[in-house]
Amino acid sequence: MAALVTLAGSAAALAQPLAAGRMVDALGSGQDMTAVLMGLAALVLVGAGANALSAYVLGKTAESVVFSARMDLAARFARLRLSAMDRTRPGDLLARMMSDTVLLREVATRSLVDGFVGVLSVVAMLVAMFLLDPLLFTGTAAVFAANLVVLGLLAPKIGRATRQAQEAVGVVGSATEKLLGAFRTIKAFGAEAGQIAVIREAAERARRHGVSAVRWNALIGSAMGFAVPAAVLAVLGLGGARVATGSIELSTLIAFLLYLFYLVGPVEQVMHAVSQLQAGAAAADRLREVSVLEVEPGRAGEDGPGTWDRPASLRFDDVRFRYDDEREPVHRGVSFTVPPGGMTAFVGPSGAGKSTVFALAERFYDPDSGRVLLDGTDLRDWPLDALRGAMGYVEQDAPVLDGTLRDNLLLGTPHAAASEIRDVLVATRLDGLVDGLPSGLDTVVGHRGNRLSGGERQRVAIARALLRKPRLLLLDEVTSQLDAVNELALREAVATAARMTTVLVVAHRLSTVMRADQIVVMDAGRVRAVGTHAELVAGDELYAELAATQFLTAESQGDHARG
Ligand code: ATP
Repeated sequence: MAALVTLAGSAAALAQPLAAGRMVDALGSGQDMTAVLMGLAALVLVGAGANALSAYVLGKTAESVVFSARMDLAARFARLRLSAMDRTRPGDLLARMMSDTVLLREVATRSLVDGFVGVLSVVAMLVAMFLLDPLLFTGTAAVFAANLVVLGLLAPKIGRATRQAQEAVGVVGSATEKLLGAFRTIKAFGAEAGQIAVIREAAERARRHGVSAVRWNALIGSAMGFAVPAAVLAVLGLGGARVATGSIELSTLIAFLLYLFYLVGPVEQVMHAVSQLQAGAAAADRLREVSVLEVEPGRAGEDGPGTWDRPASLRFDDVRFRYDDEREPVHRGVSFTVPPGGMTAFVGPSGAGKSTVFALAERFYDPDSGRVLLDGTDLRDWPLDALRGAMGYVEQDAPVLDGTLRDNLLLGTPHAAASEIRDVLVATRLDGLVDGLPSGLDTVVGHRGNRLSGGERQRVAIARALLRKPRLLLLDEVTSQLDAVNELALREAVATAARMTTVLVVAHRLSTVMRADQIVVMDAGRVRAVGTHAELVAGDELYAELAATQFLTAESQGDHARG
């Protein structure tokens, strides 16, 4: 629609020189001027109106382009596979969403329409000029052809410079995200200057490439600035001579000159559109790169709250897995079975692959070979939202998100009843904290929950998982930041949960492990032994050693050693 309206505007502009020529002829021959004047006025009005309308339609379309590009990106980000996410930087993704979409806006609307309309106008005017006088036309065309050569040489440089500038903007984004994301650590280690230097280097690169793009743009503009006076002089000289010899009318020369002046606009439009298209294409490229990142099958969406009622079983069947082709395998044939209900503890040295068991159970990654089965069904045959809906997961550094305590608790269970919230608050001993807060559950917890203590954050994460009433509860070292009293309370809450659902814990504390119905001892990507505490102390060397040393040490030094 914008193109059509713009075309109408251009047609009106195109007809104006003809009408003006008529007016001169009418003046000379003493005809009635009314009709000619009215026609000219109408053309001016239509031209102005069409311009305003097309600007509005284009602006509106541009906003829609940005909107849908951002929504596409958001949906894609949310569905990215963990393996793809491991290879990208959030700050760079953010820059693509905020900055590249805006660049794209220009290409997808104004530049396309301007380019299209501009080319049509230029061609129409050239045809009109040719019809007026082929000789004058040839002179003019030669000047503008030289311009096209300049454009062809410089436009790709604009694309390249824009691409490099946007890449640097991505680095600025990720470096800023790093600075703000680890704010306290960076301050504590006096690393501000280093981080600013990284940002400065990238911002400087963005500036340099941005300036390059502007320079090529300016050169293209100056080519125009040179071409127009040259063409006008040529036409005046050549045309004046032809008028003097009577080869053409004065009105023809005037019309031709007017065309020449009107031609400047569309030609500039086309040149500008071409350079913008180059810049936009660079942005579109960066957006396309996101669209080829691997996403999860199906849609990970909200699932209704669980009911605790059917504890799930989990089986690993000769699972082999590596995060990265260049790295050593993390699981080298892991097999174990967790029956429905009760608590299974995973123990083993750091890096043994315990957290990876949970990551595979959540299907954040797929094993390279072997199978992971929930309730006897391969995870790959589960709809992803149903699979994750059945689970509650508290990761090792479970994040508390910006927002209120209530937002955090209701993250996976938006419709939980007040009584259910109360129950989990009591179970995780958060009730005292919430009651003491002036705004209670509506207290804002700050970025990453930094207005809470480490132990409080951990308990919020556990409360959130319990509220889901999952059929499989995955707890990764959840008591690491708790004091003795809270840890005891939480152990009881977990033991209560284990009576209703299947609980898997990665544990470093003997107190947690001893309560487990089954213990899986992992070492270097393999399951060494499975059994109860008593069986393993007697039967497994590594476990006996861990039990005698690391656990007990962790027990007495818990809050210093972990976290
Ligand atoms: P800990 O007790 O220290 O938490 P863990 O037994 O839970 O250790 P995992 O977190 O499963 O160990 O990690 C196993 C190995 O996989 C480690 O060597 C780690 O470096 C590697 N690893 C973990 N996550 C990733 C990842 N996203 N990308 C690449 N490698 C990873």
